Amino acid sequence: MPTQEDLRQTLQRIDGRGYKAYKEIRGTYTCPTLTLYIDQVQGDPFAAPSRLRLRLPQEGAGYPPETFANKSRRRALCTYLAIRFAAAAQRLRTRRGTGKSGLIEIDTPGQQILERTAIAIDSDFVEARFVVGLPAAGRRVLGREAAAMLCQDIPAIARQALLYTASEAAAIRRYTEASEDADILRDQLENRGLVAFVADHSILPRRSGVDDRPLQNAVPFQSPQALRVEFDLPHAGKITGMGLPRGVTLIVGGGFHGKSTLLSALERGVYNHVPDDGRQQIVSHSSAVKIRAEDGRRVAGGDISPFINTLPYGRTTHDFSTDNASGSTSQAANIIEALEAGTGLLLIDEDTAATNFMIRDVRMQQLIAKKNEPITPFIDRVRQLYDEYGVSTILVIGGSGDYFEVADTIIAMENYIPREVAREARNIAAAHPTTRRPEGGTAFGGLRPRIPLAHSINPRKGRRDIHIKTQGLHTILFGTEAIDLDSVEQLADPSQTRALAAALLYARQNYMDGRRPLRQVLDCVMQDIEVQGLEVLTPHPLGDHALFRKYELGAALNRLRTLKVKQE
Ligand code: ADP
Ligand code: MG
Repeated sequence: MPTQEDLRQTLQRIDGRGYKAYKEIRGTYTCPTLTLYIDQVQGDPFAAPSRLRLRLPQEGAGYPPETFANKSRRRALCTYLAIRFAAAAQRLRTRRGTGKSGLIEIDTPGQQILERTAIAIDSDFVEARFVVGLPAAGRRVLGREAAAMLCQDIPAIARQALLYTASEAAAIRRYTEASEDADILRDQLENRGLVAFVADHSILPRRSGVDDRPLQNAVPFQSPQALRVEFDLPHAGKITGMGLPRGVTLIVGGGFHGKSTLLSALERGVYNHVPDDGRQQIVSHSSAVKIRAEDGRRVAGGDISPFINTLPYGRTTHDFSTDNASGSTSQAANIIEALEAGTGLLLIDEDTAATNFMIRDVRMQQLIAKKNEPITPFIDRVRQLYDEYGVSTILVIGGSGDYFEVADTIIAMENYIPREVAREARNIAAAHPTTRRPEGGTAFGGLRPRIPLAHSINPRKGRRDIHIKTQGLHTILFGTEAIDLDSVEQLADPSQTRALAAALLYARQNYMDGRRPLRQVLDCVMQDIEVQGLEVLTPHPLGDHALFRKYELGAALNRLRTLKVKQE
């Protein structure tokens, strides 16, 4: 295998030549303490940077096996190492010429601890995957600059970021322990009859809509006495907090008192968080899906009749498609699709829900006869969902007391602190009985699984067979289509979006055979990732993917405007 010295010589030899000469350095090099893989070389100094990996053998890196002994710990350790690598790269890199010359960058985690491809670790080695802007003056190779980067800076970054040292041990332990505790907490919810837990002293609000770090000087969370439960965690020991039981939970309270902030924290409770995030001990059922209205979205062949029945001119909704859903139909479709994917917990905020989907009050029932209203409001389905399908709901609703009757648990947010008010609300309901008639009939009705058809999912654009890209967190460009994920609120990281884009293609190529229902397609993809890692999605290992959930994969597929399905 060529050595670092060979690499240095090649770089000297191509110094001053056209940029394409860099193609020569593709390959694997043994360096004194590590192996350097130059997997893909950019075409010019302005193009997407070159993809590299480096590998340190464990004899040199020295991670004790317990730091990556299970998935929780491994994810946390890799998150920590990616953050450290990013910081070291930022310290050491310098501009070395035109365009991206000198860039050294790793896919950097946010506040969530996700499985990511940027760092891989096992008992043999630790590997970092990153990108590099190979140096150029204009379009000429700067060989000496490249040698300094590849043979000095990168090994120095590896030394600073990837070695297990006594001074790192404590920080690593905080990450791995926080992550492991959170997973254990989430796993225990079900046995305790809970769908979510918020530890006392958690910090829920974020700095801003675009800054996911904790708000400074926030009011720490404090559980109402009636809902306070205790958990005994392996690392944090005994902790207390608010346990939200299965069933229907209302979050009520005045505007600006923290209702949506609580619900957002529960949405993110499907992920583990880094230490100091404030949400490390907020967990919700791993199948929780945030539901909202999303007018304008496409809907492909779902049975939304439990919520929307017989549209004007007798149009039925058992096999409903539209290119431009209304607020209520989009919200109905979002629920039906989440159920199809297997959710056990719906999260809904009145701020982003369609009013006519949520409620139809007694006066409106009198003015508009049931036969002229296609919508069966959520209030008449929410209990059926729980009784027939075991699907719980947590609902922010400050605007309608009609929901008191259908709730098991009611909390009121007051100055960011919840109070348990179920009995109070029931007394009010008894004193002011509503004459509202339930409109949900006797049952929610069946769900009709859909089978996605592969030919409708076309990655081709122009002369390219496969053209798939992402833009930020919320857009996937798939063939000639743009998939809009703006309303898929539990996507947390652009690296998830990149992995989702790859997974759509993977699902189409491997599992859409015209017979498998969507649910099974999603499960097959997730199963492959579980067993073989995210690398299974791409022909070459990429360093900028993070794990998503099957609900987001389903959501992305459902928002592809060309999607066609048939019902089972
Ligand atoms: P609501 O949904 O009840 O109208 P929000 O959840 O949107 O209220 O919160 C209103 C504001 O209060 C937001 O700016 C939020 O960041 C802030 N906030 C929420 N919880 C806290 C808290 N625990 N401490 C300090 N500020 C908070
Ligand atoms: Mg709100």
